[in-house]
Amino acid sequence: MSREQSNSQWSQRYAASMLGVFAPLATLVEGRGCWVWDADGRRYLDLFSGIAVNALGHAHPAWVEAVANQLATLGHVSNFFASPPQVELAEKLLALANADTHGRVFLSNSGTEAMEAAVKMALRTGRPRLLAAEGSFHGRTLGALALTSKEVYRKPFEPLPGEVEFLPFGNVDALVSAVDAGVGAIVLEVVQGEGGVKPLPPGYLERARELADGVGALLIVDEVQTGIGRTGTWFAHRNPALVQGPVVPDVVTLAKGLGAGFPIGATLALSERAAGLLGAGDHGTTFGGNPPAAAAALATLRIIESEGLIARSAAVMDRLMADVGALDHPLVAGTRGAGSLRAIVLARPVAPRVATAALKAGFIVNAVAPDAIRLAPPLILTPDQAAGFVEALPALFDSATSA
Ligand SMILES: *Cc1c(COP(=O)(O)O)cnc(C)c1O
Repeated sequence: MSREQSNSQWSQRYAASMLGVFAPLATLVEGRGCWVWDADGRRYLDLFSGIAVNALGHAHPAWVEAVANQLATLGHVSNFFASPPQVELAEKLLALANADTHGRVFLSNSGTEAMEAAVKMALRTGRPRLLAAEGSFHGRTLGALALTSKEVYRKPFEPLPGEVEFLPFGNVDALVSAVDAGVGAIVLEVVQGEGGVKPLPPGYLERARELADGVGALLIVDEVQTGIGRTGTWFAHRNPALVQGPVVPDVVTLAKGLGAGFPIGATLALSERAAGLLGAGDHGTTFGGNPPAAAAALATLRIIESEGLIARSAAVMDRLMADVGALDHPLVAGTRGAGSLRAIVLARPVAPRVATAALKAGFIVNAVAPDAIRLAPPLILTPDQAAGFVEALPALFDSATSA
């Protein structure tokens, strides 16, 4: 069977068959809870969750059962038909987002698609000027890419849709001077994920809401990474540790943690205006929100609620980050983030070496920036697992700074 092949054999076959856009660290063959195993039988504590996706860890029994039952009952049907899980999911998401009766949901398969629908809404305002933040990441399809600030991602594919202007991160004055009646939408992450786990400064999102209202622009909040409990509340824009609010975005996008590993994206139009921007024929998807995907997301939301995972994970992570601080290690310059989306900020740009040392020692973490290690563990991470990681950290830091 597949398991008889080693990491290096799989890696050779991968290189000879897969397009060269990724550089996998290992070949994983099994996952359970917060643990994964590679083809050589090595075990890792997963503190990255497949990029903030596996909220329930790997192979959560109730989630597996819900998806399997749905597959055995009704699989794919296309959007020529409705299905109960899809409608229930839309209702549940609107309830979690505190939407009023105007709220509507578009279901897709990924974060970039959730953003693509939001971009189409923004362009449908008839105002092509869109404001985004420096350091932003909104996805790789062309509409979402247009809003993504990293030049190496964006430049080779220009011209891209819309007239996007990138504003200096967190600078309210720059935002004030950029907003005028030509702006269709202001697009923001409450905590930039790929940008290095950077929360917007206090008051920024609130000000963006006011300014958008003043000129009739949409406020689009990309919660693809931060949503579904990741920062310690269902949505980052409703997290009192991040936004004093109240802020009601016109559009909220979700994906990563929503299906806990089953691909699904959601675009929530919360204002009456946003909900009316795309009508019959304006957008579509073959797979989006199909019964198994919707059932996976419903199961995810139900399990997060019934197991009290949001509060529990935030407490485990608060303790983990406090313990990292208490190490008083010279390489640790500080920490950023909230809930289960955190960065350990390093005093020197050796994050890739720390991540490599961690992997060798059996911990999956992410060097999100040259000087920042991102932690985005499953929401089921236990205090013991967190403590085991903190205990290993000094040796990882030392090995990354020696030689
Ligand atoms: C990951 C991410 C996306 C893109 O999601 P994909 O599922 O990779 O297409 C968009 N926005 C944010 C904030 C993300 O973190």
